[in-house]
Amino acid sequence: MAEPVILHWFRSDLRLTDLPSLHAVQRAGATVLPVYILDDEPAGEWAPGGAARWWLHHSLAALGEHIGALGGRLQLRRGDSLQQLLALCEASGARRIHCTRRHEPWAAAQEQALHGTLAEHGIELRRYPGALLHEPGTVLTQGGEPFRVFTPFWRACRRNPVAEPLPVAASQWQRMEPGDRLEDWQLLPTRPNWAEGWDGLWRPGEAGAQARLADFLAGPVSDYAEGRDRPGDALTSRLSAHLHHGELSPRQVWFHCEALRAGDPGLDAALAKFQAELGWREFSYHLLHFFPTLPDSPFNPRFEVFPWHDDAALRRRWQRGQTGYPIVDAGMRELWQTGHMHNRVRMVVASFLCKHLLQHWRHGARWFWDTLVDADLASNSCSWQWVAGSGADAAPYFRIFNPVAQGEKFDPEGAYVRRWVPELGQLPKRYVHRPWEAPQAVLDTAGVKLDDNYPRPMVDHRRAREAALDAWASVKAAQASGDAGR
Ligand code: FAD
Repeated sequence: MAEPVILHWFRSDLRLTDLPSLHAVQRAGATVLPVYILDDEPAGEWAPGGAARWWLHHSLAALGEHIGALGGRLQLRRGDSLQQLLALCEASGARRIHCTRRHEPWAAAQEQALHGTLAEHGIELRRYPGALLHEPGTVLTQGGEPFRVFTPFWRACRRNPVAEPLPVAASQWQRMEPGDRLEDWQLLPTRPNWAEGWDGLWRPGEAGAQARLADFLAGPVSDYAEGRDRPGDALTSRLSAHLHHGELSPRQVWFHCEALRAGDPGLDAALAKFQAELGWREFSYHLLHFFPTLPDSPFNPRFEVFPWHDDAALRRRWQRGQTGYPIVDAGMRELWQTGHMHNRVRMVVASFLCKHLLQHWRHGARWFWDTLVDADLASNSCSWQWVAGSGADAAPYFRIFNPVAQGEKFDPEGAYVRRWVPELGQLPKRYVHRPWEAPQAVLDTAGVKLDDNYPRPMVDHRRAREAALDAWASVKAAQASGDAGR
């Protein structure tokens, strides 16, 4: 009797190792039909943005090659997921579909709907874990409530064991006639090609993810605890896009860290810090699961009445890295030129947009969505809200980053600014974060012409800070009068 066929529906789990949904095909003794469907409809405005599409193209190419080398063929289809899945099941004889559970609200709704409709056609959709260390809902307070604060959440996570990663599933592949050609999907930019040079920066796909993890753990991790906040040094893992696209599972990262710790206890502090960052990723997904309106609405309802300004011209200057604050401009240009931005600088630029320019965090989250290769609905929404002050476990609103002080503290030599804002490259470090204070002779020697080749600050920090505090005071006053009226 022919072996049954199971359709494996790849989505943001573009790997073959430690993939429970694929492993389960092997356990069932079935052959696997590997499928990826490009269907932007259900995600709506949260369909992958430009930079993530660039990544997706290369990641799918890598996955297709990997499957090809093992004797299979990745089926690429474009269009309505239900229709495509039904057609592929019909053509292959599959009566079961496996996928990794996604946690974006739109995806959870889509899975739910497909589960019911496919069942009416006699096809079972089975969803497996695989994107997180702990599935949402498995880590709750003692009262059974979702955590709203990171530290107790992470402490509770640490008490839950993490299952060992699974080896690559040595599946039998079901081959079908080729589907779409990846090139025809036009996931890559054409004119202008803003991703020029990215091939040398990134290596999307499972092999690239494994290599980056190995490189990170072989060196930079030892300085991670202190160095992770210095954007001028390459001391963070840069694994976020690999994790977002599921080329690497978080538990693979986790277990590599554990193995390293066992061999070198001196790395304990650095590894604990790094693993806690994975914890923030878990926390973001957990929050999005329990508070699905997070991408649009403030987690803290007091911010519903925050008096945001709406000025597209100001935002444009921020997007282009022309604010006159070097650390902000360096970050925004790093983002545009590489699809990535260092975490410390993400916090500074986000704070500048929300607190100095009083623009709604949603504008910033949108821009990041289109420009980050790691754009991730959970991490992006939670991080933006956290910086804006409206998020879970956010710092008090009055803590407003001073972009000059942030630059001088975390980029003391100005290496990061010099790299991304080359027009300031020759300034002495004393002025590199405050060029407008440099004497004319210093500016002349460094070739800096204020308001010509580099702008003066678009807002004065002190005044902007006061305006932000006034805005916050108006929120508190509105709430107090609301309370009094009750
Ligand atoms: P590392 O320092 O090496 O950390 C390891 C991993 O932990 C990361 O790859 C990432 O998966 C996770 N991680 C680290 N910090 C955070 C965090 N604060 N929240 C959630 N996960 C974290 N991260 C995204 O993956 N996608 C986003 O869209 C995103 N948007 C952000 C927007 C803002 C305004 C801010 C302040 C942060 C955002 N982050 C986002 C979180 C963080 O900046 C990136 O995950 C990190 O910079 C990625 O670099 P890395 O892989 O070198 O991180």
